[in-house]
Amino acid sequence: PSTTSATMNRNGIVTKIHSRIRADPFAANYELVGKELGRGKFAVVKKCIEKATGKQYAAKFLRKRRKGEDCRMDILNEIAVLESAKANPYVVALHEVYETSAEIILVLECADGGEIFNQCVADNDEAFTEKDVVRLAKQILTGVAFLHRNNVVHLDLKPQNVLLTSATPLGDIRIVDFGLSRRMDSITEIREILGTPEYVAPEILNYEPISTATDMWSIGVLTYVMLTGESPFLGDNKQETFLNISQVNIDYSQDTFEGISSLAIDFIKSLLVKNPRKRATAEECLSHAWLNPLPHPLSHPHLNTASSLDEPEMSQSESEPESPAP
Ligand code: ADP
Ligand code: MG
Repeated sequence: PSTTSATMNRNGIVTKIHSRIRADPFAANYELVGKELGRGKFAVVKKCIEKATGKQYAAKFLRKRRKGEDCRMDILNEIAVLESAKANPYVVALHEVYETSAEIILVLECADGGEIFNQCVADNDEAFTEKDVVRLAKQILTGVAFLHRNNVVHLDLKPQNVLLTSATPLGDIRIVDFGLSRRMDSITEIREILGTPEYVAPEILNYEPISTATDMWSIGVLTYVMLTGESPFLGDNKQETFLNISQVNIDYSQDTFEGISSLAIDFIKSLLVKNPRKRATAEECLSHAWLNPLPHPLSHPHLNTASSLDEPEMSQSESEPESPAP
């Protein structure tokens, strides 16, 4: 079934879905286990096990009434977007949907490694290496390029909405939270859509048209945070943050980017551009030299003395001593 038949309002919300909405009790088929996986303003996400299969999932419980308004349509939109991205491995898979009088429950593939946010703010030994970020950025871009090809914009890309299948060893990316996503074909009004201040593009702040380029700005911020552990536009308050964004006031200093390649900086600079039409697209990013390192010059080992992205082979004298002998 194609989504062209979907019901769509002028805000780019799609409410026609293909999943069966189950009315039988969720608790009859799933057992909740462990503590909460996360929560947002209107949703709680909990780990659960499907009784019939023993498989693990993440159940997202969404309240239908929010601030006295019926938000069922927004939840159907979230479901429709997840359905449309079913073929892409980097978008979280939707398994089943349940509805009660107060809630809709999305049974999602469980991303056990948690939010990339945790590694972005972690200490050095747990933080991402540039090599990690190259691999993860490619996956994020592959997922987002898929959405964009299907005319879907995510509009809330940030480290809390990009999860990992496992933390150690570092797994693969799963993009979640399509609560603000829209179909591009029909957006005329976006004034109420506001993502997290630190990650929103200048056009959102100025109530200008949004496009797939709006997500690309967020990917620029995301990449900056993954590499440096710092949020490029974060000010002491909202006003300061917004001013930093609209002035594209960014620190690209040696200090902040210590040990990070100039190709990485060049990549970020192609995204944190105020004019959305001049920003790199997801496809362009995927062919950027930073994400496509030249093959190792194995045939010329003497030319390959210090490649910062590879583990250096240390001689006995310069290496740290191994754990002491018993
Ligand atoms: P909200 O719209 O309320 O922000 P999210 O979909 O972002 O809801 O979910 C809130 C949090 O729950 C996420 O930031 C993440 O930590 C966790 N979470 C969401 N989906 C999953 C999942 N499929 N697997 C594991 N954790 C999840
Ligand atoms: Mg979220």
